[in-house]
Amino acid sequence: MANPFELARIAGPVNDLSAYVHIPFCSVRCGYCDFNTYTNVDFGGGASANRFAATIVREIEMAGQILEPAAPLETVFFGGGTPTLLPATDLALILEALGATFGAPTGEVTTEANPESVTKADLAALQAAGFTRVSFGMQSARPHVLEVLDRLHTPGQVDAVTHWARELDLEFSVDLIYGAPGESLEDWQASLEAAIALEPGHISAYGLTIEEGTKMGAQVRRGELPEPDPDELAAKYEMADEALSAAGYEWYEVSNWAKPGKESQHNRAYWTNANWWGFGPGAHSHIDGSRFWNIKHPIAYTGKLEGGDFPIGGGEALSDIERAEEDIMLGIRLNDGILVPDHTPSDVIASLIADELIDGRAALTGRIRLTRRGRLLADTVIRTLWDT
Ligand code: SF4
Repeated sequence: MANPFELARIAGPVNDLSAYVHIPFCSVRCGYCDFNTYTNVDFGGGASANRFAATIVREIEMAGQILEPAAPLETVFFGGGTPTLLPATDLALILEALGATFGAPTGEVTTEANPESVTKADLAALQAAGFTRVSFGMQSARPHVLEVLDRLHTPGQVDAVTHWARELDLEFSVDLIYGAPGESLEDWQASLEAAIALEPGHISAYGLTIEEGTKMGAQVRRGELPEPDPDELAAKYEMADEALSAAGYEWYEVSNWAKPGKESQHNRAYWTNANWWGFGPGAHSHIDGSRFWNIKHPIAYTGKLEGGDFPIGGGEALSDIERAEEDIMLGIRLNDGILVPDHTPSDVIASLIADELIDGRAALTGRIRLTRRGRLLADTVIRTLWDT
């Protein structure tokens, strides 16, 4: 395999660059989560939470030696893990290093935050450092649902943090999960209504997926918890789309709704296959059709950096066919959809319209745009388009 950094370097100055920063620490491991995150915050040396900011800054400075953006950074997103387990001053330090190395971001700067992990003073400090947006992990308004998801916060804490964000004039999103074991349709309706009442600019709602290797995956396999019912997940998606559209939120990606102008610019960068560089353990990058990713474990990741090496775990250069496939997979999930692929026969388009999976009027203008039913069956539409 070619060195992924060399793949990126031959592309020359990089256009439309965004940055992702992965903070791999959490207070507890939620039973359904398969993200690269750890409840041990004291791995030792630069891999420990209290020295982690300096480690990420080292990676940023190393990347700065080979990565030449054509213009200042566009968006920045801190995810995890729970980025706000680090003090706001550490997150500020990392953001400052990104700005000093690649140019201060011209677009939104977001951090994810669990509601129990921030105070109003933290939010104010983040804002003063240049953060413009917070994505709060609300998940549900029902305590018994939060409990089955192993979330530590209470619904009251979501009210408090969103209130502070509004007072500070910070943009915010609330993120919901539907389909948890024991969540009724009424519970989900209550969560939607509670989320809307918080008046966020942006709401995401993802159906729970049971991942192999998680605690919840084992509980489902042993029969201790029921598997989410696909029909109920579909009904809950339709409830979300009804309630959110009625409240003035428009879907702009299958699982994301926003008030006009409040769509996440950073998410759009991912979904339109723009360029982004990921910092932190396991973080993925995409530069001009090359993908590469960092070593996952914080100790190994830190060890590489401390030895003066890039912490790369692997990479690939996508072929033209793979890029075309990815453009369909990502683009079709967006509300403006994609151009009808050249190779797609008109009878296939006609049958997708007849099955109410794509919008007939958009098809007349040469675009494929999913209907609500199509959003529920997006994978089927993608397969149909790709296999013809
Ligand atoms: S807080 Fe988020 S990242 Fe951390 S374990 Fe829970 S779901 Fe995973």
